[in-house]
Amino acid sequence: MLETVVKTLSGAEKRLDETTIQQLAASLRGELIQPGDADYDTARTVYNAMIERHPALIARCATVDDVIACVNFARRNDLLVSVRGGGHNAGGLGVCDGGLVIDLSKMRGVQVDAANRTVRVDGGCVWNDVDRAAHEYGLAVPSGIISTTGVGGLTLGGGIGHLARKYGLTIDNLLAVDIVLADGSLVTASATEHPDLFWAVRGGGGNFGVVCSFLFRAHPISNVIAGPTFWPLEQARDVLKWYREFLPAAPEDLNGFFAFLTVPPAPPFPEHLHLQKMCGVIWCYTGPEEQADEVFRPIREFGPPALYGVHAVPFPALQSVFDPIYPAGLQWYWRADFVKELSDAAIERNLEFGAELPTWQSTMHIYPIDGAVHRVGPEETAFSYRDANWAQVMVGVDPDPANNERTISWTRRYWDALHPYSAGGAYVNFMMEEGQDRIRATYRDNYPRLREVKRRYDPNNLFRVNQNIRPTD
Ligand SMILES: Cc1cc2nc3c(=O)[nH]c(=O)nc-3n(C[C@H](O)[C@H](O)[C@H](O)COP(=O)(O)OP(=O)(O)OC[C@H]3O[C@@H](n4cnc5c(N)ncnc54)[C@H](O)[C@@H]3O)c2cc1C
Repeated sequence: MLETVVKTLSGAEKRLDETTIQQLAASLRGELIQPGDADYDTARTVYNAMIERHPALIARCATVDDVIACVNFARRNDLLVSVRGGGHNAGGLGVCDGGLVIDLSKMRGVQVDAANRTVRVDGGCVWNDVDRAAHEYGLAVPSGIISTTGVGGLTLGGGIGHLARKYGLTIDNLLAVDIVLADGSLVTASATEHPDLFWAVRGGGGNFGVVCSFLFRAHPISNVIAGPTFWPLEQARDVLKWYREFLPAAPEDLNGFFAFLTVPPAPPFPEHLHLQKMCGVIWCYTGPEEQADEVFRPIREFGPPALYGVHAVPFPALQSVFDPIYPAGLQWYWRADFVKELSDAAIERNLEFGAELPTWQSTMHIYPIDGAVHRVGPEETAFSYRDANWAQVMVGVDPDPANNERTISWTRRYWDALHPYSAGGAYVNFMMEEGQDRIRATYRDNYPRLREVKRRYDPNNLFRVNQNIRPTD
């Protein structure tokens, strides 16, 4: 009889017979893909090309029942399982070696309730699905800065983006989830139903089950006044010192993340700036239009900038502006930290590495997480670092694996130099697989409570391909 070698939860190998696998395939409305199938390589590929994994089975689920069937199959067969939302995770946590991938990428429905300003989003959506649907009604949900990122992973880790200062993290706008638990049951978690679980999924990642549906609060945002300002690298010290004071004092209608960057060699960027290393801030203003000129005046005047690209754009256009610079299939290496204070000493170290960006797509971003993010307490959701003011991330990026040594070395050296100035932990969604100490440092005082919830809902740690909260040591 034909058998397939699979990985168990403990990492051991075992054999599954063909009949068992065919029973799973027959129970699905979606498809079950195995090595040798025409779609196998496409289905196992994730956004970060540095990640190469070979699952034994990939279930492209079409319905919630498919998800339940897969969870039950994995549990009964002691099978390693990963859950794939948008497949964007830096460490490739949507895919696993030798196990079953529960792939939600075909579950992409979005329903907007314009009267109640809520949006219901299927577990496999990417943000572009949500941005476009909500925009039809003049609404937006706070998310990240790249529209191809999955709603699932981004939301469950927290969600930091252009609307953070005004409306908080993505989880601060999450009203409920429908989630398939490790025992195969489907429950709703909200402020009133399974509140412990609802607390944990807001920042605790994919540890607690497979979210098939998210219910978000949306906000009346249609056009925003947004875009980049770039300054020469020689001005980076002054820009950073100005930025750290200016933004926290600015109205929460204004968001702006700082970047060391190389000007992309293509329109709309002027040719004389192409491939120049610069520093910049990418702004997004959602306040009254008549006040925009006044809000942006100090920005236009600081320096002044070598490029001032701020103008009115539909929100979905801002959300997808970086998509062409970062298509799927690049090699990515990530490091990150939360930061309370951008001290003079930290700025000096940043300048050293900003001047050495190893490839044109490599970058460093500092995202503000003050304003509305601070109005939620550190223990109100699993996302602990509400007292940090910034989330910093450095990424070495290039299409060519031959450059990995350079990009990885720069990222690691950069992080090593800046970590002493950080708050200690990092945003889980900006981390690769960095071990248990980093996970604990990130959840801090919330870790014991997360562990309790994990024990209650997933005592055998079926959902472990994530920034894992272990039920036991
Ligand atoms: C180019 C780029 C830009 C980014 N920009 C931002 C940003 O601006 N702001 C920000 O906050 N983050 C950002 N991120 C980080 C992003 O939030 C994480 O990579 C996130 O994990 C991506 O989610 P995903 O669903 O695409 O990932 P996947 O790789 O599919 O999954 C990631 C993790 O989430 C779990 N998961 C996914 N969906 C579900 C679900 N429905 N139910 C249960 N578990 C699930 C998976 O099991 C896995 O553990 C960015 C990432 C990239 C690559």
